[in-house]
Amino acid sequence: MTKHFTIVGGGQSGLQLGIGLLKAGHAVRIVQNRTGEEIEKGKVLSSQCMFDAALQNERDLGINFWEAECPTVDSINFTVPAPDAPGVKAIDWNGKLDSYAQSVDQRLKIPRWMKEFTRLGGDMVIHDASLDDLETYAKESDLVIVAAGKGDIARMFERDAERSPYDRPQRALALTYVTGMAPRPDHSAVSFNLIPTVGEYFTFPALTTTGPCDIMVFEGIPGGPMDCWKGVVSPEDHLAKSKWILDTFLPWEAERNTDMALTDDNGILAGAFPPTVRKPVGRLPSGAIVLGMADAVCLNDPITGQGSNNASKAAKCYLDAILAHGDKAFDEAFMVATFEAYWAYAQFVVGWTNALLAPPPPHVLNIMGSAQAYPELAKRIANGFNDPRDFFPWFAVPEEADTYLTRLAA
Ligand SMILES: Cc1cc2nc3c(=O)[nH]c(=O)nc-3n(C[C@H](O)[C@H](O)[C@H](O)COP(=O)(O)OP(=O)(O)OC[C@H]3O[C@@H](n4cnc5c(N)ncnc54)[C@H](O)[C@@H]3O)c2cc1C
Repeated sequence: MTKHFTIVGGGQSGLQLGIGLLKAGHAVRIVQNRTGEEIEKGKVLSSQCMFDAALQNERDLGINFWEAECPTVDSINFTVPAPDAPGVKAIDWNGKLDSYAQSVDQRLKIPRWMKEFTRLGGDMVIHDASLDDLETYAKESDLVIVAAGKGDIARMFERDAERSPYDRPQRALALTYVTGMAPRPDHSAVSFNLIPTVGEYFTFPALTTTGPCDIMVFEGIPGGPMDCWKGVVSPEDHLAKSKWILDTFLPWEAERNTDMALTDDNGILAGAFPPTVRKPVGRLPSGAIVLGMADAVCLNDPITGQGSNNASKAAKCYLDAILAHGDKAFDEAFMVATFEAYWAYAQFVVGWTNALLAPPPPHVLNIMGSAQAYPELAKRIANGFNDPRDFFPWFAVPEEADTYLTRLAA
């Protein structure tokens, strides 16, 4: 039987789920607060590096429109500068990914997916949805899903204090989309640099509105020298600040950037937010309930580059749950069970990501340092970005880390 769904928010998760539901024969309305053109012409939204399992969800729906032209990311490279020797690397290793990752600028992806959703018969409404609107949608639909990302409306879902160890931003974030970055010598990578007490910088190739580019991601520890974006407004100043960070802390990354330029004046972003898990069921004044999905209820810091991956996996998990539910009502028990099915996976991503925001404990330093000696370990860490469940328990529990490292050394 055809059911009617309303999804508030047409980002990575909302559009992927909406297209999946349409393809399964259901009626879907997506309420999106910006037109495709506004998104395309606006500021960058993310660095959106997605690994194979998440890319596969897009392939399965036939919405991987950029797979042939988007540069591939073939490895993870991890570097720590030596504290007292400028220009020297204390740790440096590379782990090949079993299957490539890709990053398609959401300014390209989202408008194209909006068109595809409409082409498949979906009802695309351009409107900034309010709680009153949710009341209306709840009356008109069998199920309302809120996939509004960091949008204010997500605050209707109660913060889950047990699952949210941080109540304030843990990093000052910035993105810089550039052309002219010299490629790495061997193969492409997420080139990840951890600068103790300062923050992290990572960069990787991507596809943007003007063609191939490289995305620079800055994660500054609050109050430190990389927490430096306040008052940086113009694109020129943003690019200059990006260069200053590399020149100051990461000379080997600066060397790749002697000819770099912004992809476009909107290829920049700066901000901060606290990683937050929320209760998945939102109750409206009338008593009607709605279900939260992806960032709206499970928001991570970008340090591990998992948000779009999570959003894709949440959309797939929700699609499977909805299709398996048949003609039964989408009641509170369904909503809780659906989110918990997703949480059975996402808890590991959240645990790993939140752990990396804290100063690394000795066993994590030991793991990250040992990967230089053991290519098998470097490869395992790299492929953990595709499925972070593989980090547990050995990344989290010191005794497990010791046992694993002893086995590798034998
Ligand atoms: C600096 C930065 C770097 C990142 N890098 C990566 C990375 O490398 N890899 C990765 O996997 N993830 C990354 N992410 C995270 C990733 O972009 C998000 O997690 C992902 O886009 C979330 O998908 P979503 O569907 O939950 O929400 P979104 O994609 O944010 O979509 C939400 C949509 O809802 C709309 N909306 C909001 N409120 C309303 C409303 N009231 N009514 C109607 N519409 C509304 C918004 O405009 C938006 O279109 C990064 C994020 C940031 C900030």
